[in-house]
Amino acid sequence: MDNCSVFIIDDEGITTLQLEHALEGVGDITTSTNSYEAVALLEKVKPDILILDLEMPKVSGFDILETIQKKPSLANIRTIVITSHSAPAIEERALSLGAIDFISKPLNLILCRIRIENHIKIIIQEKALLQAQTELFTEKEHLRITLDSIADAVISTDINANIEYMNPVAQRLTGWSETAAKGRHIKEVMQLADATTKVSSINPLVVALNENRPVAMALNTQLTSKQGIIHRVEDSAAPILDKNKNQCGAVMVFQDVSETFAMSLQMTYLSHHDQLTALPNRVLLHDRITQSIARASYKKTKVTLMLLDLDKFKFINDALGHHIGDEIIAHIGHSLDRFACNDVTVARVGGDEFALVIPHSANSLSLEPLVNEVLNVISKPFRSGGEQHILTASLGISVYPDDASSVEEMLRHADSAMYKAKNEPANSYFYFSDELQIEMNRRLEVGNILRKALEENDLELHYQPKYDLNNDSLIGVESLVRLKDGQGGFISPVHFIEYAEEAGLIFRLGEQVLEKSCIAAKKWLDKGLPIKVAVNVSAKQFTDTKLVGTVAEILERTQLPSRYLELEVTESALIESFEYTVSQLKLISEMGVSIALDDFGTGYSSLSYLRLFPLDVLKIDQSFVRDMNDDVQALNIVTTIIDLACTLNLQIVAEGIETKGQQDRLRALGCQMGQGYLLSKPLNCGKFEELIMSSKVEQVTCS
Ligand code: C2E
Ligand code: CA
Ligand code: CA
Repeated sequence: MDNCSVFIIDDEGITTLQLEHALEGVGDITTSTNSYEAVALLEKVKPDILILDLEMPKVSGFDILETIQKKPSLANIRTIVITSHSAPAIEERALSLGAIDFISKPLNLILCRIRIENHIKIIIQEKALLQAQTELFTEKEHLRITLDSIADAVISTDINANIEYMNPVAQRLTGWSETAAKGRHIKEVMQLADATTKVSSINPLVVALNENRPVAMALNTQLTSKQGIIHRVEDSAAPILDKNKNQCGAVMVFQDVSETFAMSLQMTYLSHHDQLTALPNRVLLHDRITQSIARASYKKTKVTLMLLDLDKFKFINDALGHHIGDEIIAHIGHSLDRFACNDVTVARVGGDEFALVIPHSANSLSLEPLVNEVLNVISKPFRSGGEQHILTASLGISVYPDDASSVEEMLRHADSAMYKAKNEPANSYFYFSDELQIEMNRRLEVGNILRKALEENDLELHYQPKYDLNNDSLIGVESLVRLKDGQGGFISPVHFIEYAEEAGLIFRLGEQVLEKSCIAAKKWLDKGLPIKVAVNVSAKQFTDTKLVGTVAEILERTQLPSRYLELEVTESALIESFEYTVSQLKLISEMGVSIALDDFGTGYSSLSYLRLFPLDVLKIDQSFVRDMNDDVQALNIVTTIIDLACTLNLQIVAEGIETKGQQDRLRALGCQMGQGYLLSKPLNCGKFEELIMSSKVEQVTCS
């Protein structure tokens, strides 16, 4: 019973002494016999219990009681009065002035102590109660401040889902003040609906109460506030249980996800659309084809996929700059967008490739008019960068379920068909077909044979001699690669060079051909037959930064003097990345290797750039040689090329000479050298060696 203080005021010193003695140990005891100064002391001590004598001179116990009553600071003092009067009026007066108990004189000290002890017990309980109340209040306040300041909306209800509390966020989102909402059913305050269908949805808090479990809000939920403002919301509700695990209400926590939702919409849009044209991209295209196939399979209809690739776009892009390239792509995207209606998707697949997905409403949709319209739209002239452009495209078509049964297959087939169209005149289109499938299979097969041959260093070279047209002497040889077909025959490079380029095998192929060619030329040289060997180098090989090093290394390894080696390159190699290729060719030329420009006349032949290359030889393409005696234009081209070579001081070789007439005409035009079936077909190594051995030694010269 510590912590309690007792103050005794009695003018009789003996009484205070007796009491002090009797109460020893019940608390801190202070005494006073002077009622005059007692009030001031009371203020100071603020005892829990005051034992007050009523009969005192000057300031009586009643006076003190009155003073205590008037002073709020002393309101908590429990006053027990002592008196020798037993008249009820006295007792009544004292009690009405705030005294709580009465002890009569003469004092029974034992009873006195018990009474005081009881009072002290009550005081301690009261103090504990007050403390608990204060703590509870603080905790409640703390909770309230927390809930008021969190970013989530919180609503709590009673067991009937009637609102008891709403934090400010909840008030803002619902548009209801807490006061207005209190006691109302949650359904009335939170208007929830499915964001897509707008059908109102059941409040998760009600479900949480009904099923006595936490419930998450359905995805895609919207909340309409009292003022009609719509928010996308997300979150959950849970029942509140008392300490006996009985439901006593429910709480709902939710968030405004409108912004996040808008951002995720924007992100979905960005990840599904191409920035330049705003058309769907490859990802969305894939999705749309999947959906169209699903629908078509259900309705027993068809879906067409058109893949469209602009012709020569890379050239335009490099020549005119990416800025114009972008403008062109944007223009085409915009032009094609007009087809995007009635379930038709127009997408940009990448670079200069576009796609159209066309679900057929009826089985018998005729695609021809649409295809022609698409090609027409693309080839409409338009201006950009102060110039007029006319574009063409190649188009590949795959139809579900005719030739493909899945998205991947459709894409692959349309791509193969487009690839096929690329090799046709501009603005061609191709349907995927069985023949194309056979061709694709053949490609794959050839690819496998090529890989194996490369692995085993088993490529074969054939050699086609080049002759001086004036005296028929052999002046060099072109090595032409052959792939053994496994049945004693050969596969022509026209069937695998392109594949090798696409599959990245051209580098190994080029290296092996170069090495074999140099070994052969060195062998002939050692036999006293100095023959210059010309090796074809594909444009793709110039993308290999190691090309120059490889050439040098092979010359070193085979010990072939560089003047016995010539590289035949096509104009496409020069166009790809102009400056870099020039620098590489210069390095090769400085080694002493000569450089021939192959298939001349079929590319972008222009005087201005020819001057910039370290060229030694121009090879007139065989198509002009073939036609020169029947076609004036071809003849004109041949004449011009020969004049050009003369002007630039280049040697000239005509290839594909098949007739005496062609040879005579070429000789007459001043063409020094020739190559062709008339003179010799490409020969295997043995046959070629027989040929050179039997040739008069002086005929085998080196240019
Ligand atoms: P190309 O460099 O224009 O080679 C000439 C092609 O014409 C050879 O075909 C040759 O056999 C053929 N030919 C020669 N004379 C006549 C003729 O009088 N009439 C006709 N109609 N054709 C004739 P081939 O060997 O099938 O080579 C085709 C192309 O493959 C070559 O054209 C060349 O571009 C490429 N190629 C050949 N070997 C290699 C190589 O080792 N590396 C690379 N990168 N390409 C090669
Ligand atoms: Ca060639
Ligand atoms: Ca050629």
